[in-house]
Amino acid sequence: MAAERYNLIVLGGGPGGYTAALTAARHKARVALVEAQAIGGTCLHWGCIPVKSLLHSAPTLDSPTPGGDWGTHWKASQKRMREQVSALMQGLTKTLKQAGVALVEGKGYVASPNSVRVGGALLETDAIILATGSKPATIPAAGLGDESSSLENWVVGNSNDFLSLDDLPKSLLIVGAGAIGCEFADLMKRYGVEVCLAEMLPQILPHFDMQIAQTLSRSFKKRGIEVRTGTGLNGITPDRSGVLATFQDGSSFSTDRVLVAVGRKPRIEDEVIAGVNIEISDGAVVVNEHFQTSVPNLFAVGDMIGGAYLLAHAAEAQGEHAALTALGMTTSGKSRSTMLIPACVYTEPEVATVGLSRDQAKAKGLECVEGKAYYLANGRAVATEQAEGVAKVVAQSKTGQVIGVHICGAFATELIAAATLAMNLNGTVADMAGTVWAHPTCSEVLKQAALSCLDQLK
Ligand SMILES: Cc1cc2nc3c(=O)[nH]c(=O)nc-3n(C[C@H](O)[C@H](O)[C@H](O)COP(=O)(O)OP(=O)(O)OC[C@H]3O[C@@H](n4cnc5c(N)ncnc54)[C@H](O)[C@@H]3O)c2cc1C
Repeated sequence: MAAERYNLIVLGGGPGGYTAALTAARHKARVALVEAQAIGGTCLHWGCIPVKSLLHSAPTLDSPTPGGDWGTHWKASQKRMREQVSALMQGLTKTLKQAGVALVEGKGYVASPNSVRVGGALLETDAIILATGSKPATIPAAGLGDESSSLENWVVGNSNDFLSLDDLPKSLLIVGAGAIGCEFADLMKRYGVEVCLAEMLPQILPHFDMQIAQTLSRSFKKRGIEVRTGTGLNGITPDRSGVLATFQDGSSFSTDRVLVAVGRKPRIEDEVIAGVNIEISDGAVVVNEHFQTSVPNLFAVGDMIGGAYLLAHAAEAQGEHAALTALGMTTSGKSRSTMLIPACVYTEPEVATVGLSRDQAKAKGLECVEGKAYYLANGRAVATEQAEGVAKVVAQSKTGQVIGVHICGAFATELIAAATLAMNLNGTVADMAGTVWAHPTCSEVLKQAALSCLDQLK
């Protein structure tokens, strides 16, 4: 029997892969999407959506569950989360089918630059996009390997383990204070868990603007989350209540459980790519501006190409760009180095960032000014008792062009869209300050921060 022939085969059905497949199908390509586990990938099943669902269902800071029955509340939240994930997966699967994407269940292996093997079938294609995602990173030196979820009565786990946790721990050490560590710290604290958030680098959210990270850190401390920065984990040893974690500064923390949230690393399996000779560097697939690997008709997108932020919307934008390039079409969208990728943290208060901080701009030799506005002076924030926070706008000194926006405060994850749009359109602080922002809204902090930049440019 002749092998199935496609214009494009995509390996991996997460945001990078399904967006690539949908984009190709919209352009009338014959496309197959191969998924080893479940359509939706990490984002839908183990990442963005489950965590946001649990955060939404969690007791709020002002009104914890009456009677403090956090265990029952936790189980109900998990049930709701599973229902939401299932509904979203059904919707996504339907959308892919309706678009004409052939869904192939099973693990795909690239047999050659023009063929993919799934089970006993060989699928032929003009081009391939790899979008196999990432897996949690570990700290083997501190005895934190990656087999946690396969152990019974596990104590040390990764974010996957904690999403399906049966019983809430009394205390929790979170190792790593990136977005995932901070969101879990917020979540667990709201369920009454004693939380210690430890970060080896000098600040939590190490990739973010320092003042923004400090604002969140202060808020966490006020709520009783213990934040330890600038000290790495030495190791963990069993003790009566679970484990005793010791740190390089000589301090220790005794805890029921440990969540390792030290980032994620690209999922690149030798046997999956054995049929092609693609370049790998620092554990990530090397791609050019158009997400093309060292093999011309083979592309890679999403978490597997690494980068400072491994994010679902980055994977989606890359998937769209790669699919169009693979089909020989020019894209109107930006290429790899010019894509503006916002990053959000769904804690309380929320954090969001896009572009460069003042320190990053200076390190690149750019002359810039930074304008700030505090939520304390914002009518909506005060009226709704969310007056904690700050917004910062960074602009080029000569032109006033906005090159970065950083927010910690209410609705930050929504406000960042306006900032990203302004930056995508090469907007200036005069454009931002000259825009009429509805009153009373928290978005007015962006206008005030832009005005503060303008004052410095005069
Ligand atoms: C706890 C947590 C919270 C997060 N929160 C956010 C957030 O709020 N916002 C955000 O933007 N990002 C968030 N992320 C990151 C986001 O989930 C990832 O950046 C995103 O899922 C990456 O998409 P991807 O398509 O590259 O890979 P993935 O989503 O990992 O999908 C890869 C898919 O490939 C499949 N696969 C692997 N190998 C093969 C093979 N050989 N054949 C076939 N299929 C294969 C896998 O089964 C998987 O379904 C979070 C991540 C975690 C862990």
